[in-house]
Amino acid sequence: MLTDSIAKLKNEKIRITPQRLAVLEYLVESDTHPTADEIYQALVDRFPNMSAATVYNNLHLFMKVGFVKELTYGDASSRFDFTNTQHYHAICEECGDVVDLYYPVLDDVEMVAQSLIGFEVTHHRMEVYGICPNCQEKRNTQQAQ
Ligand code: ZN
Ligand code: MN
Repeated sequence: MLTDSIAKLKNEKIRITPQRLAVLEYLVESDTHPTADEIYQALVDRFPNMSAATVYNNLHLFMKVGFVKELTYGDASSRFDFTNTQHYHAICEECGDVVDLYYPVLDDVEMVAQSLIGFEVTHHRMEVYGICPNCQEKRNTQQAQ
């Protein structure tokens, strides 16, 4: 995954700076859908001269190249997802965790929309909301006390 992305950047003639590589590595390794600020906080010790804007610029560059997606759920800060596979997200209403949900069956919805209402479909999005297993357990232990 990391080497694929580096190849794509090179293809686009984009320089692989140490900071750029660090942001990319952080995204590849984290499965938590970090915010730009979380990435910045995680890397600033290694790169004291790096600004939050650098992280942002790199994220937007990765989005343009196509292997990073921005997730906006109406809250203050958007999260970033390193992905090349269509998937959905389940969002915990208590802790805000964003969990991957793979459900390829839903790919059909684009074809269905096309044939039912004649849309030339570009994409679709769906989210599931609820309480994650961790928060359920917290609730249960609180109730037991
Ligand atoms: Zn939760
Ligand atoms: Mn995801």
